[in-house]
Amino acid sequence: MSEPEKKIPKNIKTEVDIALHHFPELEGIPIEFKFKKNIKKSVMQAQPTWGGLLKPKNKRSYKILISEKFKISGEEFKTLDVPRDVLIGWIGHELGHVLDYQQRGNLNLIGFGIRYVLLKEFIKKAERAADSFAVSRGMSDYILKTKRFILNHSEIDEVYKDRIKQYYLSPDEIMEMVKEQDSIKDGNLL
Ligand SMILES: [Zn+2]
Repeated sequence: MSEPEKKIPKNIKTEVDIALHHFPELEGIPIEFKFKKNIKKSVMQAQPTWGGLLKPKNKRSYKILISEKFKISGEEFKTLDVPRDVLIGWIGHELGHVLDYQQRGNLNLIGFGIRYVLLKEFIKKAERAADSFAVSRGMSDYILKTKRFILNHSEIDEVYKDRIKQYYLSPDEIMEMVKEQDSIKDGNLL
């Protein structure tokens, strides 16, 4: 069951709905999920639409591009063929980006795009923020499965694996984060 604001291709609707369910804050915000033949350097990409950037923050809309395939040394790998939970984790990470974008003003968001292209340290910060948002919304199991899938998949491009290691939270760091959040929760609620 998803809202009219969300455009979701039929073949990933179940996975997207599960991920969206973890982000009640994104209710009512237009997000279009769209397959692309090939995205350079990544499997999915969350971005604000240009038109939305000229409007007030609450009128913004987003696009999540999904590469139909990703590069394996010499071979093609279809995104739809990865295990369902891995796909959900991937989508959850992108929704984490959207949540991060939602908390930024328009100018800040444009600056974000520029810094993302230019500064390695900034990429690291942005990717970690996306992971943290997804983890804090209860998606740690999915996010972990996605990480492990990428890191353990020997066939996946080494360049991509290096990129993941360099910029993203490691499985151990995610476990740490889950532990921390659990102890915060316990501390507050007990
Ligand atoms: Zn990302």
